[in-house]
Amino acid sequence: MQSQTSSLGEFELIQRFFKTQSELMLATIPGSVKLGIGDDCALLKMDSTEELAITSDMLVSGRHFFPDANPEWLGWKALAVNLSDLAAMGARPLGFTLALALPEANSAWLEAFSKGLFAIANQFACPLIGGDTTAGPLNICITAFGSTPKDNAICRSGALAGDDIWVSGAVGDARLALAALRHELELESRDIEAIAVRMHQPTPRVQLGIALRGVANAALDISDGLLGDLRHILKQSGKDAEILLDRIPKSITLRKQSQTIQNQYAANGGDDYELCFTAASNARDVITKISRDLNLPLTQIGIIKAMKHSTPELELIGSSGTKLNPEEANQLLKSFDHFA
Ligand code: ADP
Ligand code: MG
Repeated sequence: MQSQTSSLGEFELIQRFFKTQSELMLATIPGSVKLGIGDDCALLKMDSTEELAITSDMLVSGRHFFPDANPEWLGWKALAVNLSDLAAMGARPLGFTLALALPEANSAWLEAFSKGLFAIANQFACPLIGGDTTAGPLNICITAFGSTPKDNAICRSGALAGDDIWVSGAVGDARLALAALRHELELESRDIEAIAVRMHQPTPRVQLGIALRGVANAALDISDGLLGDLRHILKQSGKDAEILLDRIPKSITLRKQSQTIQNQYAANGGDDYELCFTAASNARDVITKISRDLNLPLTQIGIIKAMKHSTPELELIGSSGTKLNPEEANQLLKSFDHFA
């Protein structure tokens, strides 16, 4: 017999059992919570100048990584995915806690894990400040804290009609690396080498997030797939959007694949940890300068539009300049859901 939750999606589950009650509480408790469940980070009011951004992300063995995964990469990635959520809000990292369940106290594994963890912690000046350790199936949960100037955090809800939609770096490589690992596709070894780092050691776009304060109207990090994640912005901003598929930035390695694979992986492959953001068209010059200063490509892939109907619509335009039919579009709009 199926369990009752098996028919619930990840977001439906959060809404039903956590978000509704959380919002009821927040409505009755005056005070320090500026933003609760639903964005990349929660925001707490600190003083008249600062807000605290908080995010938790978990990596689970067998779900997010293979049980024999390189522990150094795991240490890196466990913090990277959290720093990526801080980046999405434009927050500067302050510190993090680490809750760790380990099947055994294996010194060699811990040595390598700690090396990867502190490599990224040092790179982003984000110190470990606490945590919890227990025996159990391998599970790594990090909570990261960051700060943003008051009223300057970039939320999913701020997109305006007429905004350009931008994406950083290139998307789809992490999904391509996963396909190679699972032997779904055969890749030359130098191609695997070129993209493996994108899956195992993603770079959180922290400097970009900070540079986008006061420039971007909305942002999120791409963890579950570009178009599916963009839909969170549309939903929370109450807007439609149009995306030009050919504009979605792809690496040279991904561009060696068939057009179908390229579109699929770039549109809905997860684990990229690039930022997708919206900004007024008069910010194009500023964004081009940010791109140059950070040496990070930023590509405009579409526009935000006023919402035509009662729910947000995402229109996909193909190579010929025509709108994709609903079946083709649906294929590209599927994003990752842990319970779907
Ligand atoms: P992200 O991919 O940016 O980490 P998620 O998609 O995991 O965000 O989560 C969406 C929102 O739901 C976030 O605001 C997150 O804090 C919240 N959330 C997820 N799981 C829970 C939970 N078990 N209880 C409360 N809030 C949750
Ligand atoms: Mg996120």
